[in-house]
Amino acid sequence: MSQAADNPAASLRALPSVDRVLAEPALAAALERYRRDLVVDAVRDDLATAREAAAGGGSVPSSDGVARAVAARLEERAGAWPTPVINATGVILHTNLGRAPLSEAASRAVAASAEGYADLEMDLESGGRGSRHAAIADLLRQLIGAEAGITLNNNAGAMLLGLAAVASGREVVVSRGEASEIGGGFRIPDVLAQSGARLVEVGTVNRTYAHDYERAVTPETGALLVVHRSNFQVVGFTHEAGLGEVAAVARTHGIPLLHDLGSGALLDTAAYGLTHETTPQESLAAGASLVFFSGDKLLGGPQAGIVVGSAALVDRLAAHPLARALRADKLTLAALHATLLHYVRGEAAEALPVWRMIGVSADELAARAGALASLIGKRASVQPGTSALGGGSLPGDELETRLVVLDAKDVPGGAEELTRRLRTGEPPIVARIEDGRVLLDPRTVPPGRDAELAVAVSRALG
Ligand SMILES: *Cc1c(COP(=O)(O)O)cnc(C)c1O
Repeated sequence: MSQAADNPAASLRALPSVDRVLAEPALAAALERYRRDLVVDAVRDDLATAREAAAGGGSVPSSDGVARAVAARLEERAGAWPTPVINATGVILHTNLGRAPLSEAASRAVAASAEGYADLEMDLESGGRGSRHAAIADLLRQLIGAEAGITLNNNAGAMLLGLAAVASGREVVVSRGEASEIGGGFRIPDVLAQSGARLVEVGTVNRTYAHDYERAVTPETGALLVVHRSNFQVVGFTHEAGLGEVAAVARTHGIPLLHDLGSGALLDTAAYGLTHETTPQESLAAGASLVFFSGDKLLGGPQAGIVVGSAALVDRLAAHPLARALRADKLTLAALHATLLHYVRGEAAEALPVWRMIGVSADELAARAGALASLIGKRASVQPGTSALGGGSLPGDELETRLVVLDAKDVPGGAEELTRRLRTGEPPIVARIEDGRVLLDPRTVPPGRDAELAVAVSRALG
């Protein structure tokens, strides 16, 4: 081998053949479990990588080594995905972790509708065609007092459809301070362009008045658009026209006012010590023609884009070809229906995980952080800190919490390595790093999992 290592040509000759690797006992189980051609492809891939490495003077792996690596990779790939994780970041609507966890009833509704057939688009009474939107629209009418409603795949899609159906080929007037990027490359000007509408920006980044909208209205205007600032704040010398004032301009000219609300809080955030978030009810009352919001932000349900408002406009959305491309599936609709029922029953604050996490008391968080720290031992301590709503909801608002601080001094690689161990452990735990320290926020950890969390953290600390 030493001769091979010095001599790339000899290294390449020493590379095991595909058949030799396939004959290794380490691959026997994989060959029984997975399709043979997929295993062969995986072996070829690994050998190709090894060949490149050997040509560059790298060492040559044994056929057993390749077989083991391939078996491990196939095993990893065949595992269930997405992997459930414990969110210890304290960010309640963590987009990378799937935003709002569903309530128990909503999860059960998903499972029940997934297992078999359902009356998604059938009226069981008549046996005729039903609407997949009707049941949810009914709840939205009750809860929000909206004339009509429709559910799409997500709020970005709902916006795209709304703009296309209402204002394609015409101008849409937006405040310059709101023609922003909402996150993940989702930019209002780009969505407008895709919808076929033309963006007309008015006002300045920090100050926009009702008369700015008024002056921008022409015979070409298809809609006025107000976008809730979900993920940034404008502070200092600012002015924003009130929704009611913009609605008055829209009404005077007989053009629709579209309001992208983002979060869709149906409960009053101010009751939890947060800034008051405009509710869809308030937006409609102020004169919005259509209100757009997400299902998986403060509503606490599945990913969805909900549009409520004027029946004539909702009908236009429903009849547009994009509605089909953006429609929500039965799993989403089942989860959303169950989520909305919690509001109808007046039990949302207790039944929905998002609102339970927002509302958990300081005393409870302190008790849980203390108990966690004592379970973990002397490398854990407790300190006051803050949790965030996340997911583009109330960006400046924080909730007081108690954090468990982990001492990573004895972990080679420090805080980064400790968080990697936590993420790759069993169960995976996502923690926060601040000033080189690893922090766990009990707010976003389901209380029933504290003991399990403590065990996994102790293991990661080594
Ligand atoms: C989050 C957000 C969106 C995008 O909603 P998705 O449901 O994630 O597609 C659009 N507009 C605003 C104001 C938002 O906050």
